[in-house]
Amino acid sequence: MSADGTGRAAPGAEPAPAAELAGVSRHYPGGVRALDGVSLRIGRGELLAIVGPSGSGKSTLLNLLGMLDVPTGGTVRVAGHDVGELDDDRRSALRARAVGFVFQQFHLDAGASARDNVADGLLYAGVPARLRRERAERALRRVGLGDRLGHRPGELSGGQRQRVAVARALVGEPGLLLADEPTGALDTASGAAVVELLRELNAAGTAVAVITHDTGLAASLPRRVRVRDGRITADERGGAAEVRP
Ligand code: ADP
Repeated sequence: MSADGTGRAAPGAEPAPAAELAGVSRHYPGGVRALDGVSLRIGRGELLAIVGPSGSGKSTLLNLLGMLDVPTGGTVRVAGHDVGELDDDRRSALRARAVGFVFQQFHLDAGASARDNVADGLLYAGVPARLRRERAERALRRVGLGDRLGHRPGELSGGQRQRVAVARALVGEPGLLLADEPTGALDTASGAAVVELLRELNAAGTAVAVITHDTGLAASLPRRVRVRDGRITADERGGAAEVRP
C-alpha cells in the first residue's frame, strides 16, 4: 500500500512493478477454474515466457494482466494501481497508458494503412490526431517499417504485419507488453525477427511477457513461468527452477 493511498509509489520509493497478481482466481460457472490462486510479480523491464499446455490458463492470465478481464478473487495491480478499485473508464485509461498487446493473428484493420493502424493504438490515450500519426510513424520506423507507412496489411508480409502490430502495441510507450503466441502464425525467419524486436524493446526498458509453445524461445528468455491447471507450477530464472508446491 502506498503512503498516499493512490497506489503509486511515493517520490524516492522503489518504483512499482509493471504488474503484480496476488492470490488471483478466475472461475467460471460450472466449476471451471481457469486460474486458481495465482501470485506473480513482473518487475519493470523484465522479459519472461509464460508456458504450459493448451487450456492451462495462460491466456486467462494474460487477459488479467492486461485488464481485459477481471478476476473472481484476489488482487491485480498494474503499474502500482489496484485494478479492482478502478471504474471502467479509469481501467480503460490505465490500459491505454500502461499495457500493449500483440496477438498471434495480428488483429489489424485491413482497410487502413500501417500508419493508421498504429495511430489507432493511441485512440484511447487522448492524443490529438496529428500527434497520433507522427508518433505512429516514429513507431513504424522503430520496427523497421519506415518505408511502409502507407501500405495496407494486405500489401505486407506476415512478418511485416506482426511488426505493425508490435508498433501499435508500443506507440503509447507502455511499461508492459503482453504477447500471446506472437510468432505462432509466422515462418521461422519472420518469427525470429519479431522475437528480436521484442528483445530490443525490452532492452529499452519495456517489460515483456510472451506466451509461447516454442520451447527454444522460452529457454532463451531470462525467466519462464509455467502454468498448469490454472496454477503456476514453476518460476524459473536463468537455468535454475523454483518449483512451487
Ligand atoms: P490457455 O491459454 O493456456 O490455452 P485459457 O486461459 O484459454 O488456457 O483457458 C483456461 C481454462 O479456462 C480452459 O479450461 C478453458 O476452457 C477455460 N475458459 C477460458 N475462458 C472461458 C470462458 N469464457 N468460459 C468458460 N471457461 C473458460
